[in-house]
Amino acid sequence: MTLQNKQVLLASRPQGSATEENFRIVEAPLATPAAGEVLVKNEWLSLDPYMRGRMSEAKSYVPPAPIGEVMVGQTVGEVIESQDPRFKPGDKVLTQLGWQLYGVAKSGELTPIDVKRTPASYYLGVLGMPGITAWFGLSEIGQPKAGETVLVSAASGAVGSVVGQLAKIKGCRAVGIAGGRTKCDYVVQELGFDACVDYKAGNLLDDLRQACPKGVDVDFENVGGEILDTSLRLMNRFSRIVVCGLIAEYSEPYRYKALRSVLVNRIKMQGMIVFDWKDRYSEALEALVRYHAEGKLKYRESVVHGIENAPKGLIALLKGENFGKQLVKLD
Ligand code: NDP
Repeated sequence: MTLQNKQVLLASRPQGSATEENFRIVEAPLATPAAGEVLVKNEWLSLDPYMRGRMSEAKSYVPPAPIGEVMVGQTVGEVIESQDPRFKPGDKVLTQLGWQLYGVAKSGELTPIDVKRTPASYYLGVLGMPGITAWFGLSEIGQPKAGETVLVSAASGAVGSVVGQLAKIKGCRAVGIAGGRTKCDYVVQELGFDACVDYKAGNLLDDLRQACPKGVDVDFENVGGEILDTSLRLMNRFSRIVVCGLIAEYSEPYRYKALRSVLVNRIKMQGMIVFDWKDRYSEALEALVRYHAEGKLKYRESVVHGIENAPKGLIALLKGENFGKQLVKLD
């Protein structure tokens, strides 16, 4: 039987919000691995907010994804053919093969993963890039001390859920912001945050004041726009803002009104990109694996099925319709 590959290509750059027309699904013959290469069957594809940035031509920390090429992304999959003695068929690996059912990678670009105790998909979430982002953003930039208040936006999501749970482990008051009652209940009841404010309820400033009676010492910012602008009004003197993501601004820019708070309160505000810690990923992973095994890190996933539905999944994620780490199961 000849295997056929199915791929999702970036067809055009979005004007404003991404649409399904920005993608094209194609079938392609399967490539054969040369010496030092490995053929992988992808099983899970990670969908992440950064992908909206890669679809655009705007200057960023990495070059844009090329038009007509397979859309970029991390996957976990299984080796089915190997031309490198370090990998054998059946090995599970973390890859950068993007939105396709199969792909050939140089063996040096693959990371072996152990799926005996941990589901493979976790290496794209709590034990992967989002978890590592939470770990370094909070500990290295936020630097919370026990007793301080840590505010986290997109609190039920892949990064935010880990940030709040790590803040609790460090003895802080963890306050989330999330869209809707169901997500907020999950953040408090399942993840163990002290409080969670539903920004869709329409009283963000008052609700935040109530949830953060001693102000905010660390804001772990995943959303930006009106949410960050409102949070700025609660920041304490010498507080820190970790600018991890600005998902509310990826499709349309926002004009800030409360930036004066940075000056008046001597706030330290720093952007973070997880790659800056790539030499230290193992440090974060060791701690995340341990906390997860101890039951201190809860985690949930939002799964769409089939490569054809990857564009829909990304569009939904960019509208905040996911509830937990967004993945595509490649059946
Ligand atoms: P999430 O799983 O948190 O999903 C995104 C969430 O953002 C949505 O579920 C939604 O939750 C929330 N959201 C709030 N406002 C909006 C809005 N206007 N439009 C769309 N969504 C909104 O994603 P991740 O955990 O993967 O990523 C969180 C943030 O961290 C993103 O900004 C991302 O770009 C950033 N990031 C940065 C990294 C770095 O190295 N700097 C690495 C990884 C992620 P709700 O319904 O609660 O509003």
